[in-house]
Amino acid sequence: MTTRGTATNGASASDARDYLADDFAQQADDLVAEGTCDPAMAEGYLAFEAWLRARPADDPRLARLAQLLRPFLDDDPRLDGTLYPDGDAIRFMDAYAPTTDPDVCSAYLDDLLAHLARDYRRWQQQIAAAGPSATWRLGQRPPDDPPVGDDSSAGPEASTRAEIEARLRDLTDEQADRIRQRLQPRPEGPPQTCAPAPEPTYSSWQDYLERTTNADRRAWCARKAKVANRERLMSGRPEHRLGTEDVWRVLEAAQGRCAGCGSLAVERRPSKPNGAPMPWEHVGRRIGSLGHALARVHGGQNTADNLAWTCLWCNTWPSERRPGATDHGGIQP
Ligand SMILES: [Zn+2]
Repeated sequence: MTTRGTATNGASASDARDYLADDFAQQADDLVAEGTCDPAMAEGYLAFEAWLRARPADDPRLARLAQLLRPFLDDDPRLDGTLYPDGDAIRFMDAYAPTTDPDVCSAYLDDLLAHLARDYRRWQQQIAAAGPSATWRLGQRPPDDPPVGDDSSAGPEASTRAEIEARLRDLTDEQADRIRQRLQPRPEGPPQTCAPAPEPTYSSWQDYLERTTNADRRAWCARKAKVANRERLMSGRPEHRLGTEDVWRVLEAAQGRCAGCGSLAVERRPSKPNGAPMPWEHVGRRIGSLGHALARVHGGQNTADNLAWTCLWCNTWPSERRPGATDHGGIQP
């Protein structure tokens, strides 16, 4: 595959920076155009755009960004959208906006790179399997995750290293070394250890109903509907729009319990007071999220009757859907 191998290093780092900054500006525009936008979210996107544009081109994270966005910077015709459609990075950006705090912006870039790395790795795996006929398109389910344990079972390190080396070919030795340090093989599957879970906020569905207001619950469902409905440059227009009631019906029918593991999943993802995301693995089975009962690749539609309430842990790691699980904060009332 040809790449713009000569326009490397500083040039591609600043290209990637500008590309991502444009994308955030577009997101802010999209939010405002919706007319229902949370002003803080659009403000956060614009603050991040400005912060990002001020990054010097030799910031090593921009070299990494250029690697992860290479298919888009090269206009690879096998993908469309401006980022991996409906991938981890887009989901992250939809769910969380940065703030005007430069420290938050910096942490946000780190998190975004981690999500992009997972999307990139999925794409590399698909290319390895399907070559020229590989595709990742709007409206298509993202490619399957690489098998869990791929990096940790005997022998895979060589292929992972080969993959890494393929990505690093266009960089200077110094940049490549920096990235190699970050990219030492590590599992792409769920983390094996995490902090102990604190006491749950809610002990049962009834407890949740008693200690939240109808307005709280509706606001939460409205936000989930909004994220599911959002039409964006890179994720396209969903076929069906969901309303607050659609989401509430799913949550109520499930009585807040995850379709994958049964855990009571009515907590929100932990965040700092300024909205910045925090680690969540230790309470992953308590965090409520909206998933599809039947994946689109198997013919499932993006309609209310195909929605399922799931915990964020099961929604993120399908291999972790174990009924009755009590790890990662699982609550089995
Ligand atoms: Zn679950």
